[in-house]
Amino acid sequence: MRVTRTIDGARTALQAARDAGERIGLVPTMGAFHEGHLSLIRAARAECDRVVVSLFVNPTQFTAAEDLARYPRDEDGDAALAEREGVDILFVPGPDEMYPPGFATWIEVGELGEILEGAARPGHFKGVATVCCKLFEIVRPAQAYFGRKDAQQVAVVKRVVRDLNLGLAIRAMPTVRDADGLALSSRNRQLSAEERQEALRLPRALAAGLQAYRDGRDAVGVACELLKGVSVDYATIADLDGPTLAAAVRIGSVRLIDNVRLEEEAQ
Ligand code: AMP
Repeated sequence: MRVTRTIDGARTALQAARDAGERIGLVPTMGAFHEGHLSLIRAARAECDRVVVSLFVNPTQFTAAEDLARYPRDEDGDAALAEREGVDILFVPGPDEMYPPGFATWIEVGELGEILEGAARPGHFKGVATVCCKLFEIVRPAQAYFGRKDAQQVAVVKRVVRDLNLGLAIRAMPTVRDADGLALSSRNRQLSAEERQEALRLPRALAAGLQAYRDGRDAVGVACELLKGVSVDYATIADLDGPTLAAAVRIGSVRLIDNVRLEEEAQ
């Protein structure tokens, strides 16, 4: 596995693969890998000739109120896991490499970037859309892999690719959960044992909402009932690359998001 920290280095490392007409797969991440990340890497490994994983804690998708410094980082551990999964290139740019002084060009996606997570985290999707565009242009993958855990992110990235004719395929992969149902997230490690128990109410509420939807009942109402007493940012049905019951809650100081796809899972 080659580790490169520069855009030129990534391009040079990929030139031979490009010349040979190989299919390049990109998995954009912010690191602190868990099985959710590894599921994306495995899908890329199975479907592409060359697998590039980017590891970049993108400062522009954090809001001022969020603590960028608190975001978990473990580059050595991530590199070892990436190597084990057969990744060809690990791209680890620093903030100055991606946003040199004078950087001023942004991608915005309209209302889709302003609802739900975008309302709670103003500017978040502008940062996501911009960094993804840059990564797509640096790596020029045939396919890029994203997790449905971040359903709105999938919808935003697909919109950008469509609107700007970027010509790559976005592969959206299912949410990986712990045995008890909690969606894997690097934020879960900030939960105390007690808070983790409380956090289970989120996937349970969504599962009950999905069942209600299948039964022709009020999915949002059922989910909200089961979230009573929890601090709920939102719980709603939105078109996020298909009808989706999505929710965000706060457990202690940790904000958790989760969702279930209503149609796919209702079939
Ligand atoms: P992050 O490092 O948090 O930016 O996540 C990198 C990618 O992994 C994103 O496309 C996420 O949606 C995806 N991801 C994160 N958690 C999970 C999960 N539990 N299951 C599937 N994909 C996930």
